[in-house]
Amino acid sequence: MTVLVLGGAGYIGSHTVKALCDEGTDVVVADSLVTGYRAAVDKRARFYEGDISDIDFLDGLFEKEKIDAVIHFAAFSLVGESVTNPLKYYTNNLCGTKVLLESMVKNGVNKIVFSSTAATYGEPERVPIMENDRTEPTNPYGETKLAMEKMFKWTAAAHGLRYVSLRYFNACGADASGTIGEAHNPESHLIPLILQVPNGKRDHVSIFGTDYPTADGTCIRDYIHVTDLADAHILAVKYLMNGGKSDIFNLGNGVGFSVREVIDTARKVTGHPIPAEETPRRAGDPAQLIASSQKAKDILGWKPCHDSLEEIIASAWNWHKNHPNGYEK
Ligand code: UDP
Repeated sequence: MTVLVLGGAGYIGSHTVKALCDEGTDVVVADSLVTGYRAAVDKRARFYEGDISDIDFLDGLFEKEKIDAVIHFAAFSLVGESVTNPLKYYTNNLCGTKVLLESMVKNGVNKIVFSSTAATYGEPERVPIMENDRTEPTNPYGETKLAMEKMFKWTAAAHGLRYVSLRYFNACGADASGTIGEAHNPESHLIPLILQVPNGKRDHVSIFGTDYPTADGTCIRDYIHVTDLADAHILAVKYLMNGGKSDIFNLGNGVGFSVREVIDTARKVTGHPIPAEETPRRAGDPAQLIASSQKAKDILGWKPCHDSLEEIIASAWNWHKNHPNGYEK
């Protein structure tokens, strides 16, 4: 089986590429390297530099390589940036995916697993969140991901394609080897920002809002290890290869931790006091996001294995302390 991983030089993509290679799968990676890093791509995979919105690039790739299934990570994913520059998100996430689908249909490639997000739900009706709960995104990032899901649904119906959409909650942690990890520029995610303090890159971390209706007043999120996410993609590809029907799955641990709990755990893991400053809420943050992943467990046979917050942060720290400047392009 040959799997094409689009966006395989990014954070979750590179972990999935490594997991596929470890399993002995033949892997082809395509990435524009706009936000990804060539150094993050496993050397066992064949690499092509190019953009998914370039139809000639994609057609050429599908002609050259015999692809059985695609995993699609090639999208922008910063919530704040999507609010200030929505059209960048529509262009890349939606228009890029439209070109990809065109090329897949034209070249007879009919199985795809793609990254979606908890941001498709917006403010949740209830927790844990189920896949058929209301989807009302509160930012353009979530809106473009939801629109991508719809584009897959209608294209699948018209052209006999099958897809799996994976709605991640808060991806975090790093591969146990310590060779790949999270590297965003600029960084906006909680755990890497916290770890910049013991790394000497900032003197404190901010707590965005302490007046939420939660036990300690800070936001609660479902933190899911990137290695568990990578496993879910492989299971989803196998599910489609075995004839599984198109579907949408949440991926989270089903357990929530507050911002204060995450900072406290990072203090324990790093042995650093990590000063924290309380600041007003960040716009658009729901108080609690916790997944029900029962459906992924029942249908895909997925089981998150790295669900302790301490283990998650320790794996992230193992990466960040040895790569304080990420991959240094
Ligand atoms: N957060 C925070 N300080 C920061 C960055 C994030 O308090 O410097 C909070 C944020 O408000 C949210 C949680 O940490 O409640 C996780 O944020 P992140 O940006 O990592 O992921 P998101 O939940 O937005 O996908």
